[in-house]
Amino acid sequence: MTLALHGLGVSQGYAIGIAQRFSHDRLEAPHYILRKTDLAAEIARFDAAVTAVRVALGELHQHIPEGAPSELRAFLDLHRLILDDSLLCEAPKQLILDTQCNAEWALAQQSSHLIAQFQAIEDAYFRERWHDVRQVAEKVLKELMGHPAKMPVGGHKQADAPTILVAHDLSPSDMVLFKRQSYAGFITDLGGMTSHTAILARSLNIPAVMALHNAHGLVQDGDMLIIDGVAGVLLVNPDNLTLDEYHLRQRQWQLEQKKLRRLKTSPSTTLDGQAVELLANIDLPCDVDEALAENAAGVGLFRTEFLYMNRDLPPTEDEQFEAYRQVLMAMQDRPVVIRTLDVGADKSLPWMTQVSENPALGLRAIRLCLAEPQLFLTQIRAILRAAQTGNARMLIPMIASLSELDQALALIATAKQQLRDEGVPFNDAVPVGGMIEVPAAALAVEWFAKRLDFLSIGTNDLIQYTLAIDRTDDSVAHLYDPLHPAILHLISHTLRTSQRLGIPVSVCGEMAGDTQLTRLLLGMGLRSFSMHPAHILRVKQQILRSHVADLVAPVARLLRAGEAAHIQAKLARINEP
Ligand code: PEP
Ligand code: MG
Repeated sequence: MTLALHGLGVSQGYAIGIAQRFSHDRLEAPHYILRKTDLAAEIARFDAAVTAVRVALGELHQHIPEGAPSELRAFLDLHRLILDDSLLCEAPKQLILDTQCNAEWALAQQSSHLIAQFQAIEDAYFRERWHDVRQVAEKVLKELMGHPAKMPVGGHKQADAPTILVAHDLSPSDMVLFKRQSYAGFITDLGGMTSHTAILARSLNIPAVMALHNAHGLVQDGDMLIIDGVAGVLLVNPDNLTLDEYHLRQRQWQLEQKKLRRLKTSPSTTLDGQAVELLANIDLPCDVDEALAENAAGVGLFRTEFLYMNRDLPPTEDEQFEAYRQVLMAMQDRPVVIRTLDVGADKSLPWMTQVSENPALGLRAIRLCLAEPQLFLTQIRAILRAAQTGNARMLIPMIASLSELDQALALIATAKQQLRDEGVPFNDAVPVGGMIEVPAAALAVEWFAKRLDFLSIGTNDLIQYTLAIDRTDDSVAHLYDPLHPAILHLISHTLRTSQRLGIPVSVCGEMAGDTQLTRLLLGMGLRSFSMHPAHILRVKQQILRSHVADLVAPVARLLRAGEAAHIQAKLARINEP
């Protein structure tokens, strides 16, 4: 009988293959009491297990396969950091001494305690790191119990029988091996959309469904599986008809992927000859490789806050200078929009002292930078200096009032004066833009536009702040609606005003990478889209099939509609081939 399980489709595409279970079953830690004379030996046994895991992680780190996503190194580093934290590698030894328990039990107690602490963290990203703590603790537990975790050998991609990995959970270090073994796809019981494994799955471009709850318990080795990464469904032992249907879908998907690669060098122009700029959003300097691989016209959004993460103190001016210079040099003459620090809200950092009660409405982004001018000045100086090496632009996030913008512009002038006084070379003519992501800025865009060189619409926050929907809160996720008439009105108003004033404007929120919205945005007048590099060719394909002149009237009709059903129907018509 066919079984269908629903989870999160974290990476799109279809995989059909034979189940291979990854023995990552959670081990039950035994509990027994030791004699006092055996405690030293028990501590030595614990130390040996920690050392073995440390060595194994180090080896993985040294043998990261070529082409593996850049995040892998960071994830392995995180696991090494967790392992080396005294709360994990020292505290259990004290427990052994205090309670005379065995090492497995001490480790299980201490890791449960740590996991509970992580699960209580408000910030969704940091809260999800409890998976990493558990994965590291499990590795040590397995060493102690004589079952070091091994990826099953034999993941292969034969034309007739590819293998699908079935795991309760996968850690980033498992993923390194996974990359080498060429599985067709994977499924896991655990994991959220922002878990490290989900992030990796997306960057590896392998079909994957996560959060299936008990698939690992239900699926047997050798079962025939279909992963539908588009719908987030796992089919177990499907009948022949279903198999045929999915073989067809898979072939179509693969064909499409192949065809997309051919678009890499095609100019991004509509059928009626309108040129459209397709830019990449990046988080770290190493992401420029992907931007270049997709032939992005430039970087439309460099989220610099990622340079500030996973460290005790903010990066120095020289460190930042080096990071910006690296991106500018790699992109050669293509534009690089460097957004100034946008922390706060769901991106809080350990050294931030002022944490708001309601962080999304609190001291976030430019507000924080104005409250801590030295932090801002350091970054501005680094950008201005690096801007000598390429086509840099500076983008200020979350502006809501003109006085904030004026203060930010004054600080940029101060940074220039400091550099001039010190005789440090810099680029005096870096264009300064502002993000339109707070409704107030969208409504009053005219006044902002007059003080700025360019605008970039951040639809992710524009939706959050217009609809009063916390973008990280699952319970209101169904209300997060890019097609809400209020959102469309604000975007349209911003585009029309920018056009009237002759100021360049782009969209850098997720809406820019959604092919369902490409024609709508084109019809609204947008000609510059910035998105995750992986979406560029799909959006380009949609642009190549669109005729802007034909879009203007139906888009204007859509913008006059108010009911969600009418908007959806009109959008479907606009998107007809
Ligand atoms: C946005 O808000 O749309 C945006 C691009 O910025 P971020 O997602 O980094 O908040
Ligand atoms: Mg934003």
